[in-house]
Amino acid sequence: MFKQAKWNEKLIFEYDESNTYKLFFEDLPENERIYIMNSIPGKIRRENPPNIPQLSEIEAVRHFTRLSQMSYGVDLGVYPLGSCTMKYNPKINEEIANNDKILWIHPYQDEETIQGILKILYDLSLWLAEIVGVDKVSLQPAAGAQAEFTGCLIMRAYHKDNNEENRTEILIPDSAHGTNPASAAQAGFKVVTIPSDDDGCIDVEALKSAVSARTAGLMLTNPNTLGIFEKNILEVSKIIHEVGGLLYYDGANLNGILGKVRPGDMGFDIVHINVHKTFSAPHGGGGPGAGPIGVKKPLDEYLPVPTVEYDKHKYYLNYNKPKSIGKVKGFYGNINVLLKAAAYILHMGYEGLKKVSEYSVLNTNYFLKLIKDNSYIRLPFNPSIPRKHECVLSLAPLYDKTKVKALDVAKWLLDRGMHAPTIYFPLIVKEALMIEFTECESKENIEKYARALLEAIELAIKEPNKFSSLPQNTSVKRLDDVKANHPATYALSWKMYKKKILSRTPHLN
Ligand SMILES: *Cc1c(COP(=O)(O)O)cnc(C)c1O
Repeated sequence: MFKQAKWNEKLIFEYDESNTYKLFFEDLPENERIYIMNSIPGKIRRENPPNIPQLSEIEAVRHFTRLSQMSYGVDLGVYPLGSCTMKYNPKINEEIANNDKILWIHPYQDEETIQGILKILYDLSLWLAEIVGVDKVSLQPAAGAQAEFTGCLIMRAYHKDNNEENRTEILIPDSAHGTNPASAAQAGFKVVTIPSDDDGCIDVEALKSAVSARTAGLMLTNPNTLGIFEKNILEVSKIIHEVGGLLYYDGANLNGILGKVRPGDMGFDIVHINVHKTFSAPHGGGGPGAGPIGVKKPLDEYLPVPTVEYDKHKYYLNYNKPKSIGKVKGFYGNINVLLKAAAYILHMGYEGLKKVSEYSVLNTNYFLKLIKDNSYIRLPFNPSIPRKHECVLSLAPLYDKTKVKALDVAKWLLDRGMHAPTIYFPLIVKEALMIEFTECESKENIEKYARALLEAIELAIKEPNKFSSLPQNTSVKRLDDVKANHPATYALSWKMYKKKILSRTPHLN
């Protein structure tokens, strides 16, 4: 997040090679060259040098150190990005995932030589099944969104098997995460949106009138994206099951109920777990995720192949699942990420996991108490309902008075060296700020964050014009949202950027 001197703003492959000390193969004495060439069999020798940057060690170290200083992460400060559960990744997780015995295993090794890792994966699948209350877990999907898609394919396969291919609709509340309707549509279903009621919960009457023989299932997260527990969940699940539909649990919000209540016991048939959220593996800028998916019987028959099994003598990969929807990920999933989750669960234990949800809920409600008297922030939907692991505020009153938007306040927080909350989600809240501290944040930091937010509001009332040019202190200034979205100007790679942007604005080059 620090400003960097201009001379240092290069991409790694833009360094001037002439400044770099390096030893070329051609510079070696002839006898060494001959020795090296003779020790590499001809058929595996490359014909041309690889197209990689030619940097000295110190330049490579400086480059990556500089990049690490330009970005912000949970290891640097408070990161209350709602819905994302940006919790601390204990460093012992990294150590375990980097253990040589695990790091060098090859996915094509014989099963008998990888019994250790299979046991870890098998045990993890049992722990997750127990935690969410299902019969069988597959660790394969690489993210929550991919698990949702997998779950929708399982729903389709199940209904098809029962000669009910006419079940073409998936019901999704209007507070849902965007991946829910996207996954359902991608799997070929029609999405039917169910409105929320005054308490911010799914409107049960609207649900009753939406279900029919066309209902394939419902996708729901609980606590929902407003951080509110769906108190009618048992009735909701009865309504869906009575018409022959299935319930899918979007597990992104599991942190709010961990160890307290299980989605399986609420009536959900298919459940995913974002181990990169609830179980501490770093994600977003910090690394890839994993989205294990669990099901109740008889849906286990449809899980992706292979599943990891144990026959009391050995662990093995089971490909013998004739009803499986097939493969959704290369090999067995993002094992490195899964290992971090396994390490986290082991060192937290049952009591520790319960504390996670208790502290994350406590942190949210403490924060709400600190800001509740400010009349420019609103807590939409019934404010007397305690929130769980996260809360959604509306800055609509501030906007109405000053035209300062949630976006501007978020940029102000970035300028102060704090990560902004999630903004403009869920879609049903105007000028939304979605805040989730997780259990990891200290009381002091929550107080500091609340003070910063109140200070931003005070400033917005006094000097609203100051906000449109923020942020000033970050390595990247305010982005142009239109350019970032328009096909003529967005650039997803350096090559695209050079072609689309720099060619037209050579003075910037
Ligand atoms: C993060 C999230 C998802 C998607 O999970 P990914 O692992 O990011 O694909 C789905 N629903 C909610 C509520 C989320 O917060």
